Amino acid sequence: MTERHDCDCLVVGGGPAGGALATILTSFGRSVVLVDDGRAKHAIAEETLVPGAARRIEACGLTQVFAEHHFFGVRRQGVIWNSDETAWRDNADHERGLKIERGVFDRALRAHVRELGATVLEGYRARKLPACGHGTVTVESDSGDPVEVEARAIVVATGRGRHSALFPAEVEAKGAATMTFAFNGKTEPPLDDATLIEAVPAGWLWWIPRRGGGTCVAAFVDAAELKDCGHDEIVRHAIANSRGARFEGDLGAPVYGANGTPRLLRPTGGIFVCGDAASIVDALSSQGVEKALASAEDTAHAIDTVLDHPELRPALLAHRHVWERRLWRAHLRQATSWYTSERRFVERPFWQTRQRPDWLASVLGRDTVLQAAAVESRTAVRRSARGFQPVDGMGIVGELTCIATIGSVPVDSLLQLVERPTTVEQAVNRAREQAALFTLTPKAVVDALQMLVDDGFVGAEEG
Ligand SMILES: Cc1cc2nc3c(=O)[nH]c(=O)nc-3n(C[C@H](O)[C@H](O)[C@H](O)COP(=O)(O)OP(=O)(O)OC[C@H]3O[C@@H](n4cnc5c(N)ncnc54)[C@H](O)[C@@H]3O)c2cc1C
Repeated sequence: MTERHDCDCLVVGGGPAGGALATILTSFGRSVVLVDDGRAKHAIAEETLVPGAARRIEACGLTQVFAEHHFFGVRRQGVIWNSDETAWRDNADHERGLKIERGVFDRALRAHVRELGATVLEGYRARKLPACGHGTVTVESDSGDPVEVEARAIVVATGRGRHSALFPAEVEAKGAATMTFAFNGKTEPPLDDATLIEAVPAGWLWWIPRRGGGTCVAAFVDAAELKDCGHDEIVRHAIANSRGARFEGDLGAPVYGANGTPRLLRPTGGIFVCGDAASIVDALSSQGVEKALASAEDTAHAIDTVLDHPELRPALLAHRHVWERRLWRAHLRQATSWYTSERRFVERPFWQTRQRPDWLASVLGRDTVLQAAAVESRTAVRRSARGFQPVDGMGIVGELTCIATIGSVPVDSLLQLVERPTTVEQAVNRAREQAALFTLTPKAVVDALQMLVDDGFVGAEEG
């Protein structure tokens, strides 16, 4: 007889996003089935998290997992960026951040979820999901054994691979096309307790020491240049000519090669999506895992709410997408400011493409002309201590996107500023006459309008 489970939430994918989500939902008292296919190919053997990630780890209830496995960061950090010299920095304990062995971390996370009482199906794969986001799902082991899961909510956390059969989605935005390759080896001299980030003419290198000895390096290169010039010329040459570190002996074959392009998806059905499956940030920020945990936390609150208030599903799905989009854009801006600060290789394709990204055109100037899109009143959601509350909001006609406020500023008041074509300067002047806006500084008004442009509520044209 086929094994069957009935649960509040089925989580597909047991990496950082799925594992954290299952942890939080279980701690809320929700019944969870977590399914992982065991086929994860980790881009790089070890990954680092910035010191600020500790707060997120605590919020997800994962401090114990990190402490038990001694996932502490390195003592020294080296940077070769816009300079031919390595700038070394010794980290005090609170500056070390964290370093995880990805395979070990993901298994520990799933074991933790199981200990908390969730059902964890390892070695099972979901191939098809009901687009409405709830119902019966059949998952299969490698040997074809089926398990049926009846779920009141479904979340996809399957990582960067495209899974169009799992959830319908459109690619909403992409960063510059990037390929990434990882290699393992021993460096001379050894990079024992130090990471090194290095800009090179063809892209950048990320050296991370491995627990138990040796080092892994990931090379991030331009996809078009790689196609034109070939792997040896671009990737091998970049690593062989590193100023910061040198592998002993032959480089060998990469242990991993994949598309490393930052990407934002817009899911179009009723399934909640989190982690890299929703949006992939530029690896330069070293924050993919932290972003996966943050995405899981936000999604957990959305699921907790939708289980009690199914009528809020459209507003919660809209909220999730706006959340992913804002974080994705913030990361792109941050990565671009790093890329722009490297001036030695400005003629090379990798740097040219990333120093002039299209989205910069959307940054508002005082003469930029703004006009509100067609909008309508709709129910939106606002996060409270636990879960989300329904509030009056504005939605874009014909689109899912729907919000109530930018920070604490009501969206309808902001949209009134730009009902007719209006320059940024005029909008800032008008804000002084509006009861809901007059306390804002001009910069706060411009930042809020920029977010409305990013969210598609306002069109912008150079004046
Ligand atoms: C070269 C490189 C270096 C990086 N370095 C860092 C770094 O130093 N620090 C950092 O924070 N981030 C780094 N990242 C980013 C980080 O790896 C990701 O952001 C993070 O793994 C995303 O977690 P996730 O849970 O969303 O997805 P994943 O980690 O990809 O997990 C998805 C899980 O779902 C499973 N799965 C997939 N499909 C199915 C299915 N149909 N059914 C069941 N299970 C399924 C997979 O096997 C996997 O276990 C790096 C990325 C790259 C490419």
